[in-house]
Amino acid sequence: MSKFWSPFVKDLVPYVPGEQPKLSKLVKLNTNENPYGPSPKAIAAMQAEVNDNLRLYPDPNSDRLKQAVADYYGVQTNQVFVGNGSDEVLAHAFHGLFQHDAPLLFPDISYSFYPVYCGLYGIEYQQVALDEQFQIRVEDYARPNGGIIFPNPNAPTGCLLPLEAIERLLRASPDNVVLVDEAYIDFGGQTAIALVDKYPNLLVTQTLSKSRSLAGLRVGLAVGHPDLIEALERIKNSFNSYPLDRMAIAGAAAAFEDRAYFEKTCQQVIESREAVVAGLQGLGFEVLPSAANFVFARHPGKDAATLAAGLREQGVIVRHFKQQRIAQFLRITIGTPEQNQALLDALQGL
Ligand code: PMP
Repeated sequence: MSKFWSPFVKDLVPYVPGEQPKLSKLVKLNTNENPYGPSPKAIAAMQAEVNDNLRLYPDPNSDRLKQAVADYYGVQTNQVFVGNGSDEVLAHAFHGLFQHDAPLLFPDISYSFYPVYCGLYGIEYQQVALDEQFQIRVEDYARPNGGIIFPNPNAPTGCLLPLEAIERLLRASPDNVVLVDEAYIDFGGQTAIALVDKYPNLLVTQTLSKSRSLAGLRVGLAVGHPDLIEALERIKNSFNSYPLDRMAIAGAAAAFEDRAYFEKTCQQVIESREAVVAGLQGLGFEVLPSAANFVFARHPGKDAATLAAGLREQGVIVRHFKQQRIAQFLRITIGTPEQNQALLDALQGL
């Protein structure tokens, strides 16, 4: 705290990201990165930018990337927004699309950045309890709100809300924006982008950090009605005209264009997930149904914090949250088959 801080900064409670350890030998299963590298075509596209173009400013509109996303999803480019990680895209959406006359609604167990953005932009919020099975109950959102946001699949549970339930939510709340945060949708879910032409209040965000293995590049996107996208563009153009650098635009576009590599690596992660679920269940864990590249698991007879510490001693790091209702769970990212085996072997001895 300093006398030079504004009252606003004094009250700010920032997000604390998952640990990024400096040691390289760890089996790192704590922040849901993809165990496989990005598409070789994405790497080649980035390399070409490095070789030829870094002297020049990037395209402020990221047209090449917007076109690649629009082609992939069969939408128009004016329905696509891109930003520096989906965290930044979410920040602009909180700033530009949620109303202040009623609280924003989101699940009480979800992405812990949401309350931080509410603090940053002065948005009131109400957290809506998940049901006994840790699922979102759509009926509970049918109340006055300034907007609704939830991850799908949810994080850190991994549970998926079907499109039919999302449509019920959209119909019940037609006057406010419903934001579906699809950071993990490509590991078995169905994207709500299929619904954007039908519901002008729907905004879908995605990231290239997970299924396209570009967490280090920081690229995220949103798809929705052109009016919603226009709001995000206005915020962006009042904040940073060049959020995406040349490597990010070229690499992310190439990653979208390389469907075969994307589909193959997603499938590998999904198959590994099923093996990890079976392995954990064999060790007596209860595992929530996951459509993500991580699983959320608890052991009826073992304390999660102790397990996380024990794993760490053996060089395996997973995520443990202190929040009361989920304090007995571990969130475990799906790694390569070798990493997954190292996890299961380490757990066996604990
Ligand atoms: N949404 C959810 C639910 C997430 O878990 C994450 C990753 N921490 C993000 C958004 C942000 O991802 P990124 O900024 O890497 O695109």
